Amino acid sequence: MRVMTGRPLLLVTGGSRGIGAAVCRKAAAQGYDLLVNNRSDKQAAEAVAADCRALGAHADIVQGDTSDEEGIAAMFAAVDRLGPLFGLVNNAGVVDVTARVDEFDRARLERIFAINVIGKIRCATEAVKRMSTKHGGAGGVIVNLSSIAAVLGAPGQYVDYAAAKGAVDTFTLGLAREVATEGIRVNAVRPGIIDTEIHASGGLPNRARDLAPIVPMQRPGTADEVADSVLYLLSPQASYVTGAILNVSGGR
Ligand code: NAP
Repeated sequence: MRVMTGRPLLLVTGGSRGIGAAVCRKAAAQGYDLLVNNRSDKQAAEAVAADCRALGAHADIVQGDTSDEEGIAAMFAAVDRLGPLFGLVNNAGVVDVTARVDEFDRARLERIFAINVIGKIRCATEAVKRMSTKHGGAGGVIVNLSSIAAVLGAPGQYVDYAAAKGAVDTFTLGLAREVATEGIRVNAVRPGIIDTEIHASGGLPNRARDLAPIVPMQRPGTADEVADSVLYLLSPQASYVTGAILNVSGGR
């Protein structure tokens, strides 16, 4: 049971590690309550929630895969138990192993698009139903995690992922304009090379360090640096910012 303290409630998909976990911790420190979503690693999500509680937040975890309807139903049932929902950080995302386009198969593409595109759109749909003044909500904010790959294309690595992030960018622009008069702001962040475990899941554990020389700032970014931008877009300081896509990529 969430005590009604007036702290706005945030749902962070993929909040168990990396950028999502950094968003949860910073949000807790800045006065938000948290619903920390994870897919597989319950212990990691619980550790993030415990950190948030230590910072004074109400924080629950909710298991659910953003690429299936059961997972989305579980997440939004938890939202409805704790609500009202102020913000959605549409963060959960995956890469596949490095491959050329002529090596892709259908199963790979279906997974990449199910999680990185359809999952994000489905979560936004459920969030809009609860936030929009058109549906009796009080408004809210959505922040989508895109990638600088959307404009670079990620040739030779994961063009499918880059194309999925291009879809996230276009979805951000369209949804922002669709709900602009309904109290909802919708923006995206395009991280560059950020030092998280996502690179190991693509078979390149040292990718962030190895690619540092191609970044104008000559270093990978941190999850905290991306989280700061997400927190800005959630905040009242961004009250006139919607349909924006912010590069957080060290100049790349
Ligand atoms: P990460 O360290 O691999 O963490 C991914 C998180 O997403 C984990 O908490 C994971 O949970 C969760 N997740 C994955 N698939 C999920 C699903 N289907 N349903 C629910 N949760 C799921 O990744 P990250 O680097 O923090 O990336 C976060 C976001 O930033 C992604 O959208 C990514 O595309 C984007 N991004 C990252 C970089 C970068 O260089 N790191 C650059 C550009 C964009 P479990 O562990 O429980 O599976």
